[in-house]
Amino acid sequence: MYVQTVNGPIAPDQLGVTLSHEHVLIDFRCAWIVPPPQNSKLANAEVTTELVPILRGNPQYSLLNLVLDDEDTATGELKLFKQTGGNALVDMTDIGLGPDPSKLRRISQKSNVHIVAGCGYYRHIAQTPAVLIKDSSELSEEIVKCLQEGIGQTDVRAGIIGEVGTSDPLHPFERESLVAAAKAQNRTGAAINIHPDVWGRGHLEVLNILEAAGADLDRTIMSHMDEVMDPEWHTQVAARGVYLSFDTFGSEFTYDGVEEPKDSDRIRVLISLLEKGYCDRLLISQDICYKISLIRYGGKGYSHVLSGIVPQLKARGVADSELRKMLVENPCRILTI
Ligand SMILES: [Zn+2]
Repeated sequence: MYVQTVNGPIAPDQLGVTLSHEHVLIDFRCAWIVPPPQNSKLANAEVTTELVPILRGNPQYSLLNLVLDDEDTATGELKLFKQTGGNALVDMTDIGLGPDPSKLRRISQKSNVHIVAGCGYYRHIAQTPAVLIKDSSELSEEIVKCLQEGIGQTDVRAGIIGEVGTSDPLHPFERESLVAAAKAQNRTGAAINIHPDVWGRGHLEVLNILEAAGADLDRTIMSHMDEVMDPEWHTQVAARGVYLSFDTFGSEFTYDGVEEPKDSDRIRVLISLLEKGYCDRLLISQDICYKISLIRYGGKGYSHVLSGIVPQLKARGVADSELRKMLVENPCRILTI
């Protein structure tokens, strides 16, 4: 029994407080949106604190906002996370999002934060033509290699399959990628983390495909469940036996006039699920993927769950034992191979 980190396997009880869906390094330019003419300068502008208020109104107009690649910045941000009691995180940057496993390993060593790397394939829009034509067997071979030998040309092994990117409607490549994830899980025992179409309703179809391909839904996480505030929907997805990841705490952005939920909404729905008895199936995290979410650029950083959300949950009556499950025990169980 072990948890596979970028620095090798560790005993599960070494993991401690763990953010289950983050990006320390990412190239998320696949999500870039061409800004309207009045904001055309945002496309290639350097991200500065002066620009943050504008970018909060649409973080995806700026190409540079979508790239986290600076080793020193990342190390500094993770040291702050460590100071607030964090000990580990899962970096969900897989193929299509620009993984850099060697840099990730160095950042983990310098910050003294355990990092578990994801592997597998993000959404079809992020893939090259050469990847898009691969079938589930080829994709599965690559995922198993990442888990058992190393990611890319490195010996840095992944510790979880994900985030497996899907769209609504599903792209044919994404069907192959889901089947590949299920096959790789069967061969390795690693957990699977799914990125659904965030505001869509394709989640159950995704789970049907995984299940038909032999995946263990008890070892599967559905991410970004805190972007839709509908407790009935949450219980429908939870009924399939998967983990529900409330992983966008701190993201209160607007996308072309459409507002994300606020943290207060996320807390309300999370508490309703705790009251229904789902504590063993809940995870909390922040899914940082923009520069403007980092402390260096005026954002809340990787400590937001611990310093901003946990105190609010406690004030609303969430017990220490429940917090321990969502931040320590559940991530540990899902990451243990
Ligand atoms: Zn995602």
